[in-house]
Amino acid sequence: MRLILLGPPGAGKGTQAKLLMSKFHIPQISTGDILRKAVKDEAELGREAKAFMDGGQLVPDEIVIGLIRERIREADCADGFILDGFPRTEVQAEKLDEMLQEMSLTINAVLDFSVETEELVLRLTGRRTCKECGAMFHVDGRPPKQSGVCDHCGGALYQRHDDNPLTITKRMEVYEKETAPLKKYYNQQGNLKTLEGTGDTEQIFSQVCRLVSH
Ligand code: AMP
Repeated sequence: MRLILLGPPGAGKGTQAKLLMSKFHIPQISTGDILRKAVKDEAELGREAKAFMDGGQLVPDEIVIGLIRERIREADCADGFILDGFPRTEVQAEKLDEMLQEMSLTINAVLDFSVETEELVLRLTGRRTCKECGAMFHVDGRPPKQSGVCDHCGGALYQRHDDNPLTITKRMEVYEKETAPLKKYYNQQGNLKTLEGTGDTEQIFSQVCRLVSH
């Protein structure tokens, strides 16, 4: 199964991707995670991407497209994958279509998570992520048992650099301008499935499972 998770920053794509990954045993491919790791490792990719990420801007298309081109050819993607945060522009979507065509593959569904902007901002400003295992928490909504410590692996929790009010506003603007038009793109392909991204995580996941199995 090959899925695309669409939706604004903070819509819950990462959380749902992790649940899908455990249920269907296919990898989550998060361009944001790959880029953050490259920044942390001080890799060339990270050096190219950092300023864009810190400013809430998109990293240039050719960089992320190259990254996805290699990643989806890896062995663990043979039975499918979950794209989380890619594509984010029409150029990326078109290139992805080309790549999949070359590989004689198709996308099964594009899930678009709809959440009010006010709620998104609250989610992003309170979000905390485990440095070790990537598990996500929220200071109010889903606090860890012990402040600053991951419930699952004991790793330290951190706040993403770009989860500050100024950068969040920029990311929302960029989403509306560059990424929201992809809803129309995938709707025209007959792949788009929109769902309400607010409420209980497990209930949203049940809906996700229903949508991907139809
Ligand atoms: P995310 O973790 O998905 O919120 O992504 C964090 C940041 O990484 C974004 O604000 C962008 O700077 C960059 N990024 C992630 N995915 C993409 C993409 N598909 N195209 C361009 N930039 C991206």
